[in-house]
Amino acid sequence: MSKKIGIIGAGTAGLKLGLHLLKNGVEVKLFTDRRPEEYAGMRLLNTVAHHHVTVEREDKLGVNHWPDVGYKGHYYYIGTPEPLQFYGDLVAPSRAVDYRIYQPQLMQDFIDRGGDIEYGQIAHEDLDAIADEFDLLVVCTGKGPFGQMFTHEPAYSPFDRPQRALCVGLFKGIREPETRALTMYFSPGHGEMIEIPTLSFNGMVNALVIENHIGGDLEILAKTKYDDDPKAFIALLLEKLQKHYPTCYERIDLEEFDLANGPLDILQGGVTPTVRNSYAKLPNGKIAVALGDVQAVVDPVLGQGANMASYAAIILGEEIVANDVLDERFMEKVDARRRDRVLSATRWTNYMLSSLATLDPNLLQFIGAVSQNPKLADEFTENFNFPEKQWDCFSSPERVQAWIQARLGTPANDAEELVAAE
Ligand SMILES: Cc1cc2nc3c(=O)[nH]c(=O)nc-3n(C[C@H](O)[C@H](O)[C@H](O)COP(=O)(O)OP(=O)(O)OC[C@H]3O[C@@H](n4cnc5c(N)ncnc54)[C@H](O)[C@@H]3O)c2cc1C
Repeated sequence: MSKKIGIIGAGTAGLKLGLHLLKNGVEVKLFTDRRPEEYAGMRLLNTVAHHHVTVEREDKLGVNHWPDVGYKGHYYYIGTPEPLQFYGDLVAPSRAVDYRIYQPQLMQDFIDRGGDIEYGQIAHEDLDAIADEFDLLVVCTGKGPFGQMFTHEPAYSPFDRPQRALCVGLFKGIREPETRALTMYFSPGHGEMIEIPTLSFNGMVNALVIENHIGGDLEILAKTKYDDDPKAFIALLLEKLQKHYPTCYERIDLEEFDLANGPLDILQGGVTPTVRNSYAKLPNGKIAVALGDVQAVVDPVLGQGANMASYAAIILGEEIVANDVLDERFMEKVDARRRDRVLSATRWTNYMLSSLATLDPNLLQFIGAVSQNPKLADEFTENFNFPEKQWDCFSSPERVQAWIQARLGTPANDAEELVAAE
């Protein structure tokens, strides 16, 4: 049966879905408010790391244009009085490309393969008329107001405000560590920082995702504007890095350190984690599917948002191809396949936000065990690809203990030492 699919939004979710449908001969049209040539002049959109499962989906779609810039694992630095440092390997490289390069490239791939894109800002009141043209409408416009057409799921949305004050930028002048890897830093009581080797306009640079606890010593980084006084901002940032994330500071060339491409390379603000119902019925009886950030937005601390959007997009695409009727039964099948990963990614991220802020003893025990055992560190690192496996471990204190005991053969060491160290 021929099917016609309309997709609103050409971000990671919309592009992956559009490319999958094109590949499978399904008629598809993308609606978006930005042309490919506009991206290069835009402010930094985000700093997205694609886990290797996402890179593998790009390989299958024939859109992995950056096979050689991946990183091999994660370094971890826990800033307790006796700092803990360890490393975990990934089974295959993960990768980060500036979305101002990545998104327009995938749009171009879509166009080159015969895909149709209509440019212009879509308003909520336009939806019914657009929906009349299609058998199914997919809404993947990101964090903006469109999400409100899908009911909020309070059971999975425990917060009504951002849990971190974010300061995120692309920086030059940070020497790569021995192995090209992402680094996760934890400054107990103050924040977390994720350093991501990223391909941007002038080659490899580093994204610093600085996640600051509200009311902590680092919150000022989210409030101080680079544009007001760039030198003063950089001096403040260096002071905080030296104090909270010293192993990053040690690799900085003080002469060169600055935003990588200029003043547009910084973002400050916060994300309120939210899960919404997976679809809505439109007045004409057709279904509008929520996809990507429209369905579930998470804080970037664990790098899950775009990865789960990509996963969910391909599942939605496969079910569109497999089903002749795109009705509520179709949505049940889509949800049965995508829901565990989407919910696990959101719940694990929300758990980590709270547990890192309160120094939950179970998490400290977990970190203590993983830091002492490279095999455990590898497994934890690889499981960033599979948030449902992380949630299998972290969803209750009993599960954390069982995870450690199953691997070490003994109960976890008492976390008292680490907790006392705080
Ligand atoms: C600082 C930061 C760091 C992050 N790091 C990571 C990470 O490491 N790993 C990870 O997986 N995720 C990360 N994320 C999350 C990730 O950026 C998002 O989850 C992902 O981009 C969502 O994709 P999407 O396709 O749903 O939405 P988007 O990428 O936001 O795309 C939305 C699309 O809709 C279009 N649009 C919007 N409104 C309209 C309208 N009214 N009319 C027409 N078109 C419209 C936009 O132009 C765009 O094309 C991070 C986010 C931030 C903020």
